[in-house]
Amino acid sequence: MSTKYIFVTGGVMSGVGKGVAAASIAKIIQSSGFEVTAIKIDPYVNVDAGTMSPTEHGEVFVLDDGMECDQDMGNYERFLNTSLSSANYMTTGSVYLSVINKERRMEYGGKQVEVVPRIPLEIIEKINNAAKKEKAQIVITEIGGTVGEYENLLFLEAIRLLKLKCPNDVVVVLVSFVPALGAGGTELKTKPTQHAVRNLNSIGIQPDIILGRADVPLDQKRKEKIQFMCGLEEGDVISAPNVESIYEVAINFEKDNISKRIFKKLHLKPKKRDLVEWRAFVNKIQHPKGEVKIGIVGKYFGSGDFILTDSYISVLESVKHAAYFYNQKPVIEWLDSDVYEKDPAKLKELKNYEGIIVPGGFGNRGVEGKIKAIEYCRKNKIPFLGLCLGLQLSVIEFARNVAGIKDATSTEFDKNAKNPVIDVMPEQKVLLAEQHYGGTMRLGAYDCQVQEGTISHKAYKDWTGESKGPYTISERHRHRYEVNNDYREELVKKGLVVAGLNEKKDLVEIIEIKDHPFFVGTQFHPEFKSRPLKPHPLFRALVGAIIKNKK
Ligand code: GLN
Repeated sequence: MSTKYIFVTGGVMSGVGKGVAAASIAKIIQSSGFEVTAIKIDPYVNVDAGTMSPTEHGEVFVLDDGMECDQDMGNYERFLNTSLSSANYMTTGSVYLSVINKERRMEYGGKQVEVVPRIPLEIIEKINNAAKKEKAQIVITEIGGTVGEYENLLFLEAIRLLKLKCPNDVVVVLVSFVPALGAGGTELKTKPTQHAVRNLNSIGIQPDIILGRADVPLDQKRKEKIQFMCGLEEGDVISAPNVESIYEVAINFEKDNISKRIFKKLHLKPKKRDLVEWRAFVNKIQHPKGEVKIGIVGKYFGSGDFILTDSYISVLESVKHAAYFYNQKPVIEWLDSDVYEKDPAKLKELKNYEGIIVPGGFGNRGVEGKIKAIEYCRKNKIPFLGLCLGLQLSVIEFARNVAGIKDATSTEFDKNAKNPVIDVMPEQKVLLAEQHYGGTMRLGAYDCQVQEGTISHKAYKDWTGESKGPYTISERHRHRYEVNNDYREELVKKGLVVAGLNEKKDLVEIIEIKDHPFFVGTQFHPEFKSRPLKPHPLFRALVGAIIKNKK
């Protein structure tokens, strides 16, 4: 079978869930029995997402090979239950960089290198490389941004060229916003979608399927209108209303037979009944037997929950996966660490939560409040999980309040720290001095030897299948600072448990506290490897401990 291509692009405006739509389509196709892979294209000049602020661009997701990419890649990995590589992510910057490097190596044989067709051809080559690497029969590619923007024109040109070359192998899906007007917001307006399609048409592309994103399902009349005005075949307008959980989206699409329409256009027949496990999973989400209440302590960005939700999407999803595993409804709330810094009396509110997470972060704002929250969790035996910065602050808290190193801190917060229990690694020092920020942290998968007799050892047992002796796991990283080995012995003597170690580099990967229902900090980011049907062991263990604690 020749490679088949599905492109997902957006109309009218951004932020309507194109990534989840692409991931859901990928899931449906995968569960129909095909080898699928998914690509995300960000039309920015940034070479990767590592230099973009999460408050503006959302979470920076990290792959095994260290690629720092868009949060949608996380959705792909979660929905497809697979690990992807940098071959599956591209930006305008990375495409240009490849072309420029080729030009420098004389790979264009002395010819003048023109933006068209070179850039679109490079894009197609990258898509094909990803398909080959992942042995995919069908590639789903999401193009960021909205049709009509200058930024994604060259990517759309790539679609046009590909469709011209193999018309039976390409399907273009337009995810378009259908606003509702009138009292109660019941009058759905199709005109913006019509304009988006005109826009696509003007660059030589006719969409095959339109997903109508609206608060409510599209009625038959609206579907017919879009179909007629935009030149689609019957059945090619799919309703995409708001849903409670992103995992319901795929099921909704199938109510309108999206896969049947796609397979027909690609001249394929499904090999299996789709979404069997997925439907059971969604049913579980919809019928919880209890709830777990977890607080996430972060610095508040002042722009509302939406920003935080986007910045910590993988942490949120990981908590959800673990809660669903135990048939619990996850209740997650944001707690502002600044408040605890200014008014420690407010720490009492942490008692309202059954578990607390301190996630990753950069810079020193809000840090002292987080340390106070960690101290409170340690002393009051509230189940606690610290992620990356969360581990570093747990070590600082322990050093200050248990080991008596009163001025313990990280060189990230105080360059001239007298007691830097967290310090930048020598190779990182050089990079920072030279201002090499992009792609230079400790990134991607590193091994970690988990020590017997620890909470983590028990937690990972199900994942690794090993129950005796230290064993090796692999987790993803994104940080510059590490536990300073000069202080390790002293801290361990005072009771800090080093539960995980990268033996090769002699770096602390997991810490724990004894005599506590659950207190774990990880230098890595476990949230990048949790999957809906396979929750990450540490998140699972956190929720497990919460449930046990309740009893
Ligand atoms: N700022 C810390 C570091 O660079 C932690 C990073 C993180 O939490 N991802 O080491």
